[in-house]
Amino acid sequence: MAQQVRGVVAPGKNEPVRVETVTVPDPGPGDAVVQVQACGVCHTDLHYKQGGINDDFPFLLGHEAAGVVESVGENVTEVEPGDFVILNWRAVCGQCRACSRGRPWYCFDTHNASRQMTLAGSGTPLSPALGIGAFAEKTLVAAGQCTKVDPEVSPAVAGLLGCGVMAGIGAAINTGAVGRGDTVAVIGCGGVGDAAIAGARLAGASRIIAVDIEDRKLALAESMGATHTVNSRTSDPVEAVRELTGGFGADVVIEAVGRPETYEQAFYARDLAGTVVLVGVPTPEMRLELPLLDVFGRGGSLKSSWYGDCLPSRDFPMLIDLHQQGRLDLAKFVTERVALDDVEEAFSRMEAGDVLRSVVVF
Ligand SMILES: [Zn+2]
Ligand SMILES: [Zn+2]
Repeated sequence: MAQQVRGVVAPGKNEPVRVETVTVPDPGPGDAVVQVQACGVCHTDLHYKQGGINDDFPFLLGHEAAGVVESVGENVTEVEPGDFVILNWRAVCGQCRACSRGRPWYCFDTHNASRQMTLAGSGTPLSPALGIGAFAEKTLVAAGQCTKVDPEVSPAVAGLLGCGVMAGIGAAINTGAVGRGDTVAVIGCGGVGDAAIAGARLAGASRIIAVDIEDRKLALAESMGATHTVNSRTSDPVEAVRELTGGFGADVVIEAVGRPETYEQAFYARDLAGTVVLVGVPTPEMRLELPLLDVFGRGGSLKSSWYGDCLPSRDFPMLIDLHQQGRLDLAKFVTERVALDDVEEAFSRMEAGDVLRSVVVF
């Protein structure tokens, strides 16, 4: 039987979000219905609302979520009703050219639910944000989007691994391959940048330099594990990073802003043969100009990090275990817990830079 639940819908470009009644169908083959327990408010949800992702309005927002599997469709073997899961937006196919070469974190054909959620009444199909749509009491996803983890962890904390926190930690440990003794600089200390700092610390970096234009964000970055901070409004970040690394630059520089000027800082703040990781998401009109000779002459690698190049089945349970052991404080990323009706206000606080993460708790 299809069910009716409350969900946060973005009706049209730049229109305020509304809590609507959403029809969640029974799970089709390979699908799962998840009772959502918590869902973080991410910049990507705001980009959907602003029309910055695509025009497939209306959207059912929310994608950084954890909850309990309520029911599954035919042919589902990964999870069963009652499992506590984190939702991921890259359920790998196992068959595309990336998967078949043993690099499933690059999967080019990720799965989503086979059926559609709709607006109750009109029956208008909803586009779930990143194929999830978890600002809703229940949501329909592909079973592969459910990653089972230790049910002892708080849902508000677990859900954040589903997107921003995983993107940042993965940028450091997967894409950047930060190793013991490496020097690391992180440019931009919002949720993703702070997660990159936590990831670099986990990986054993010797020096972690946080760069931002706001002192309050730098103070928070220190609490996440930054050993040094640079305010790039008052000092040249490239010079400062070089000074803090024996005059050379950092082994790995993580750009968590997604702008040409901060990318250029990252490019020049790294040591010869070092690595730049771009995890900040640029907008379509942005252009980068660099002397090609410097790209060649400085060597090393320039990489981009998709979702922290994570493999949810491998990385989510591992990071939850580290959290449970006290080696990775994921709870620090939860600034506040809010209700489903508070998403619009949470967007304003996020835009003002007042929160790392607001989390809707059901
Ligand atoms: Zn694949
Ligand atoms: Zn997100």
